Amino acid sequence: MSIATAQDQIVEELRAAEKLLLTTHENPDGDALGSLLAMHWTLEQLGKDSVMYMSPDEFPLSHEYRHMTFDGLLGAPPDDLDERLVVFLDCGNIDRMPVDFLQDGRVRILNIDHHHDNTMFGAVNLVVPEASCTAEIVFDLANQLGAEISAETAEALYIGLVTDTGRFMYENTSAAAHEMAADLIEAGVDTHLVYRRLFEGLPYRRLELLSRALSTVASYDGGAITLAMLSRSDFEETGALETDSEGIVDHLRAVEGTKVAVLVRELLSDERRGARKVSLRSTDGSVDVSMIARSLGGGGHRQAAGFTTQLAPEELVSTLREQVAAQR
Ligand code: 5GP
Ligand code: MN
Repeated sequence: MSIATAQDQIVEELRAAEKLLLTTHENPDGDALGSLLAMHWTLEQLGKDSVMYMSPDEFPLSHEYRHMTFDGLLGAPPDDLDERLVVFLDCGNIDRMPVDFLQDGRVRILNIDHHHDNTMFGAVNLVVPEASCTAEIVFDLANQLGAEISAETAEALYIGLVTDTGRFMYENTSAAAHEMAADLIEAGVDTHLVYRRLFEGLPYRRLELLSRALSTVASYDGGAITLAMLSRSDFEETGALETDSEGIVDHLRAVEGTKVAVLVRELLSDERRGARKVSLRSTDGSVDVSMIARSLGGGGHRQAAGFTTQLAPEELVSTLREQVAAQR
């Protein structure tokens, strides 16, 4: 099915549906949360009964998103699940929403996303890899549905746009992304306020965690790989939350000569004891980090990807070095 056909089909199904349930991926980022809220408010504006689902384990959200409010959010399947059309937003792989009630084939799924490696797990898949963010696709859908973009919907979309383009810095920052920004500002977004909420007012513990990460920085293969690690004790001793590591990898990618930046952090929950989350960023596009992440059980974009691993640090580093070398 072409993207245009998928888009028409999705619009038709959204128009016809009375009850919906929206969700996104675990560990949600700004695009996941912004797309979720914007789609929810758009559907409500069109008179639909929309609810959102995220696991209660996701809360508190990463500090950046503390001002986002989620009325109509469920932490468990609703009784009327079978009557609801399910919409996944910004989720490349259904395993990134690890709950049985969405995975057991009971519900009809519309899959709206921009990951090029999306596994097409929906009954209809609107996957637009050229879109800078899922919010861009949601914005198009809202316009096609004839919804009025309220200031709060515009702000949610803007959060998706700003975070997924790295503040209009990454390669995915197209003319369409800037045009969308202009439309959203006209719809009432207070950009300065959004930036302050997203990127300032950080808890001090974040700086302490960053400082610990920077104290571990290692450079491999003539500077091509810049890597830092955070251990469980770094989190425990600074009082930092898992989400406080967000953004650290951007400091690594800025280092001269870096092709791939890597942040490895030990996971804190007891079920995931011993496991590490790896964040990969590619700087100039010479290495496709989603390929590396996929080969290790994760996925993502060519320039930003991740995975969770049980590999010990030394083995992990040597695997990453081999894989980066193989692509250069
Ligand atoms: P981050 O490093 O910020 O956690 O993730 C960067 C990007 O990599 C995300 O936007 C997502 O596309 C992808 N990603 C991160 N972790 C995983 C994972 O465990 N599985 C998959 N499929 N993608 C991931
Ligand atoms: Mn996204």
